[in-house]
Amino acid sequence: MPGETALPIASQLVDPYGRGIEYLRVSVTDRCDFRCVYCMSEHMTFLPKRELLTLEELDRLCTAFIQRGVKKLRVTGGEPLVRKNIMWLFRSLGRHLESGALEELTLTTNGSQLDKFAGDLKAAGVERINISLDTLDAAKFKAITRWGDLETVLRGIDAAQNAGLNVKINTVALKGVNEDEIEELIRFAHGRGGDMTLIETMPLGDIDGDRTAQYLPLSIVRTRLMDHLTLDECGYRTGGPARYVTVKETGGRLGFITPLTHNFCESCNRVRVTCTGTLYMCLGQDDAADLRAPLRASAEDALLDAAIVEAIARKPKGHDFIIDRRTMKPSVARHMSVTGG
Ligand code: SAM
Repeated sequence: MPGETALPIASQLVDPYGRGIEYLRVSVTDRCDFRCVYCMSEHMTFLPKRELLTLEELDRLCTAFIQRGVKKLRVTGGEPLVRKNIMWLFRSLGRHLESGALEELTLTTNGSQLDKFAGDLKAAGVERINISLDTLDAAKFKAITRWGDLETVLRGIDAAQNAGLNVKINTVALKGVNEDEIEELIRFAHGRGGDMTLIETMPLGDIDGDRTAQYLPLSIVRTRLMDHLTLDECGYRTGGPARYVTVKETGGRLGFITPLTHNFCESCNRVRVTCTGTLYMCLGQDDAADLRAPLRASAEDALLDAAIVEAIARKPKGHDFIIDRRTMKPSVARHMSVTGG
């Protein structure tokens, strides 16, 4: 809490390939108020509450990673802002920004609750947020998200910008759905002074439809954009997997995340924790470590810390996503809403 002394920093987490782990993504809930067609099936079964880490446990867990050198923390879900009392966690984690142990506290959201929470997020020390937005057409928005409302999200984006938050728009490129709208979305994001990132669909978890039907390689999107826009290579990196260009006509930055057509593992500095305290060392592989048991076994953090160190020693070199065209099965069974986007 404010005024608390700085954390004693233990030795930094480094994986067997020499990559320092500085970035933690934490999913705080598997629940969401949307049902995006590429992410979830309409009738998802969510976890019972007792399985979830409490907000206090999430705080302890994040703090243990920060003590081990994590500098950037992204809160995600599910939809993180539907978790009850989530602002308590943001406020509590904000103390690590004040002490300097944490450099950035950030959030990925669908924007539906930002009207309510943007000011509180800014007050807790959040500076930049990612908002997922796949279309600017209200009917299409409803079709993609099943339960979402475009107007509410646009109001949320306004609220975030009015609160002084830096907004990046994330768009999943979907074949036959929003491919004709990508340029408009870029102009929308850049026109508001924000960056924009395009993402390929990743084969994570069973959904109701056929994944290969949605897959649109960003190499194709990029070639098409170049008919109308000038994309200048730029060295900008956020420590994430996106490769950025500057769009000459808008002056804004455009990132590409291409897990299927380009392997971005070599510089991977991140790990992910689910809302049940399962640590995944790689988004594209199944190996995981249970951190909930050591968290609950003792009020001290020694067991938790040992479990984290042991797990990082198993971080794999990389992944190779594939969509099996014969069985139509995803290469990784868990949904993005479980591991956190
Ligand atoms: N609810 C929040 C949101 O909408 O941003 C955070 C969680 S959501 C799972 C995070 C991001 O993952 C969103 O941008 C979403 O579009 C993306 N996503 C979900 N499933 C995906 C998939 N199979 N492939 C690519 N991106 C996916």
